[in-house]
Amino acid sequence: MGERHLIIIGGGLAGLSAGCYARRSGLRTTIVEHNAGLGGVCTAWQRGPYLVDGCIHWLTGGPFQHLYEELGILPAVPLRTLETWNTYRDARDGLEVPFTRNLDALIARLGEVGPQDRAELGRLRHGAAAFASMKPPFDPPELTSAIDRLRALWDMRGAVTSLLHFRKPIGTWAREHLESPRLRRIFTRMLPETAPASFLLMVMAYLEHGYLSRPVGGTAAFRDALEKSYRGLGGEALLSSTVDEILVDDGRATGVRLSDGTMLAGDLVLSTSSAPETVLHLLGGRYDAAPTRERMARWKLFDPIVLVSFGVAEPYGSAPSLLTIDNIKSLSVGGRSTETVGVRVCNDDPCFAPTGHSVVQALLPTDYQWWATLGSRYPAEKDALAAATVATLEPHFPGLGAAVRMTDLVTPLTYWSMTRAWRGAFEGWMPSSDSMMNHVKKTLAGLGGFYMAGQWVEPGGGVPTSILSGRQVVQLMCDDLGQPFVATAKA
Ligand SMILES: Cc1cc2nc3c(=O)[nH]c(=O)nc-3n(C[C@H](O)[C@H](O)[C@H](O)COP(=O)(O)OP(=O)(O)OC[C@H]3O[C@@H](n4cnc5c(N)ncnc54)[C@H](O)[C@@H]3O)c2cc1C
Repeated sequence: MGERHLIIIGGGLAGLSAGCYARRSGLRTTIVEHNAGLGGVCTAWQRGPYLVDGCIHWLTGGPFQHLYEELGILPAVPLRTLETWNTYRDARDGLEVPFTRNLDALIARLGEVGPQDRAELGRLRHGAAAFASMKPPFDPPELTSAIDRLRALWDMRGAVTSLLHFRKPIGTWAREHLESPRLRRIFTRMLPETAPASFLLMVMAYLEHGYLSRPVGGTAAFRDALEKSYRGLGGEALLSSTVDEILVDDGRATGVRLSDGTMLAGDLVLSTSSAPETVLHLLGGRYDAAPTRERMARWKLFDPIVLVSFGVAEPYGSAPSLLTIDNIKSLSVGGRSTETVGVRVCNDDPCFAPTGHSVVQALLPTDYQWWATLGSRYPAEKDALAAATVATLEPHFPGLGAAVRMTDLVTPLTYWSMTRAWRGAFEGWMPSSDSMMNHVKKTLAGLGGFYMAGQWVEPGGGVPTSILSGRQVVQLMCDDLGQPFVATAKA
């Protein structure tokens, strides 16, 4: 039999990762990508002499590092270990808490801010140490035996007490276990309130062990290395091509129809598009749609953002490269007001800007509907928000207004029009205890030869998760086809 043909809807990280593993495992692959380039939301773009980095603030390695090696991203792209993950700053009085790799110093600093909570901070420190010893599961649950699951539980035994204590959402944990209003505010502003507090353990554990990094050359270098691997393996890609329908014959996916009417035949179809788009639009809600509808009713979507980037004739060399500025004068961002702004200062890699310059970015939570219904007011509202953002950041970046040479503004509508992020939810489902504990299947009942991967089947999303999802889905395909899964070039 000739090579079986796998059609992959979407060339983001999940689609590219699946494409690489599928090629190694002997499938012919065609990625059909709506955008003009590969990478999905994990992308970067040039604006004159400035590189706008649209994604990787922190790359999670450690136990996930071997994925990047299997895919040829490492060692081609060197990584820079983060010494500080993120810095909290209170705009009212300048209180600053950098989350550094030295966790003992960090806990001591947090203890100064909220002395009444030293016992709970000790629990956090202990929990982070316990978390570091855990190995995340790599194989898909569908292919994991009861013995493997018992072994995994046994390996986790040292962390069970901490995992139980920190299983609540960060917001609930902060309200129930912290007395200091300031500490509560710090933790709930630096990570989503709805995410399980164990997320905090993970960040602190991985930070301490040097597992958090940034790729040298930024997101662009990471994305390009993965694309190079895919193409080097002989993977095909159709760009600027949108799938409008998944074709089904006799309960089996047989190909796709593109929006220009082109039909592509395949033996297998994998969608990395959003769950609502895949299940309700591309399949018309005819296959196993109830669980997706239920999730849409129960789970929150990731908060859409406006990403404002300024190319500036200032190096801002001493500014933290990731900063959460809290208690700013309320800023109105497309139908929402915010008192907290996430800032990334691209001052830590020469790829971002010419010498003496940098790129300052603000990530502002906003409302999809507001931007989607603006009509002709859209350009003017973008300009107004850019000006308001400069005014908000100016006290923290002296001379910013006068130094701006380039302004780039991405709205939830851009995320939809460029990367089909459903209602601007650029990272899929919001992480919550409910969404993260409930396994989302990569197949739909009653539909053969069809699979799903990426951040819409892995609530919370993220680079390693999407890449792992692409690997796992090919493991499932190979199992269904009764052929070996090949992970590395040498295997
Ligand atoms: C601003 C920002 C910052 C981030 N920071 C980090 C970080 O610091 N660390 C981290 O780990 N993660 C981060 N992430 C998250 C991470 O980038 C994503 O979770 C991950 O890249 C998602 O990959 P994916 O392949 O699952 O989805 P996507 O990237 O959304 O890929 C899906 C692809 O499918 C295409 N598509 C959809 N529908 C169709 C269709 N009908 N026809 C054809 N093509 C279609 C889309 O165009 C898209 O290219 C960040 C994301 C953003 C936006």
